[in-house]
Amino acid sequence: MIEKKINRSANDIYGMPILGFLFKNQTFIFVLRLIVLALFLYGVYLGFKDPGEENTFTRYLFWGLFWSLFMVVSLATFGRVFCGICPHGFLGKYITKFGLQREMPSWLKNPWWGLGLIIIGWWAVYYMYPGFYRLPLVTAILFVGVTAVAFLLYYLYKDMSYCKYVCPIGSLTKAYGRLSFTWLGSYKEDCSACKTFDCATACPYNLKPFTFNKKNTMEDCSLCMECSTACDAINFSIVPPGNSLYKKFKLDKIEVWTFILITASITISMGFHHGIGRSPIAQYTPWVQSAEYFKSFMSFGSIDVVGLFAFLYALGITLFLVLGGMFLTSKILKAEYSKTFYTLGYAFAPLFLIGGLDHLMHSFFTHTYADIANSFIYGFGLESDKVQNLASRKDSWLGIFGIFKYIAVVWAFLILYKRVNLFNASRIAKVLATLSASLLIIFYLSLGAMRDFAMSKKAHTHTIHTQSKTIHSKG
Ligand code: SF4
Ligand code: SF4
Repeated sequence: MIEKKINRSANDIYGMPILGFLFKNQTFIFVLRLIVLALFLYGVYLGFKDPGEENTFTRYLFWGLFWSLFMVVSLATFGRVFCGICPHGFLGKYITKFGLQREMPSWLKNPWWGLGLIIIGWWAVYYMYPGFYRLPLVTAILFVGVTAVAFLLYYLYKDMSYCKYVCPIGSLTKAYGRLSFTWLGSYKEDCSACKTFDCATACPYNLKPFTFNKKNTMEDCSLCMECSTACDAINFSIVPPGNSLYKKFKLDKIEVWTFILITASITISMGFHHGIGRSPIAQYTPWVQSAEYFKSFMSFGSIDVVGLFAFLYALGITLFLVLGGMFLTSKILKAEYSKTFYTLGYAFAPLFLIGGLDHLMHSFFTHTYADIANSFIYGFGLESDKVQNLASRKDSWLGIFGIFKYIAVVWAFLILYKRVNLFNASRIAKVLATLSASLLIIFYLSLGAMRDFAMSKKAHTHTIHTQSKTIHSKG
């Protein structure tokens, strides 16, 4: 480690008492990674040993604690720390060091692999066969398969290419990490005279962290913190949330597509299928009607046809709104379509991650916390009473989490406004462009209102049903 006398700025996490220890102390980080690795291995082992539904440990470790609780909360705050403690990245660093160090072939060096895997390999299957991946045995087989592929690619190719191009989680964490309030960079004055570039040499991803500030992107940085161990001039700072999104940077197409397709696959699809789809107006929705129509002359086996159509409609509507809206916007701004699309598409970032905190926090208090705690009691055979939920679904105070939906919308508009200002256009053109590029944001907002309306119908129907039962029983 190169010892340099660094005057750390007040917002540098490395200079802070507790956070500095958590993010910079390599022994602590190493132990944390070992614990996560041990949990990962035990979860997979238990998936094979107890493959039935009674094995809640495997299910809630992977699909409750890691995804989505830890990933969503950490991405929205400290950034890509999920990658920083990921068992694949942790072991991959050593595998790749002793591997063949080849260049990944260009057909594989395409981040669409990672994004495609998460949209088709996970979400399409999730809607068609709900609960399938959550079966402990399926979860265990899935993670053994992913681990085998990851290790093989780490062994064959250099610079952690698996993380950069193939990992389904990597595409998501890289894009959404931009919304966090942290930034890894370096002290310019300490770097300017550097001749050794220890940070770049130490980086397993072959990145140059001293260029991040200038380029306004952290590229594929996984927050592994190897560079900060190699050189003290690296800083990890607290910045305004989503700071990089308000300025220019080299546009990354896959980041924009991640925001669009993840919003469609999770936020909009769930709004259709689990929101409106569970209300009294469900049978009038196009996805239910389409499912009924196709089922009348086709056999779908055990596929959840309504779920599949909800997913397809969500994808179709999202693409229509985004592609159509951006086409109009490019005309208004008199700018190239592709430039308009990729410059402004970053505005969709908060919809899933920040808006999703509403559902995530609600679920945490009503069941996720107890589910995870009870699954650990089961997994480790602890002598303990069952942990109860922290709140009931009827608790009105849970409504405060609804604020996240509005924060997401306001934030999306703010990013859009700032990024429209990167174009040369008249003021009125910019106002119109902001409106036409925001069709997906407006639809997201109205989807929430539609769901609330549909649910109020349910409550209304339930009240009438209860009243009529009371009258009948009195009669
Ligand atoms: S990109 Fe994927 S494999 Fe690599 S560290 Fe992140 S989650 Fe792990
Ligand atoms: S830039 Fe630093 S923290 Fe980021 S991946 Fe490279 S070594 Fe790890």
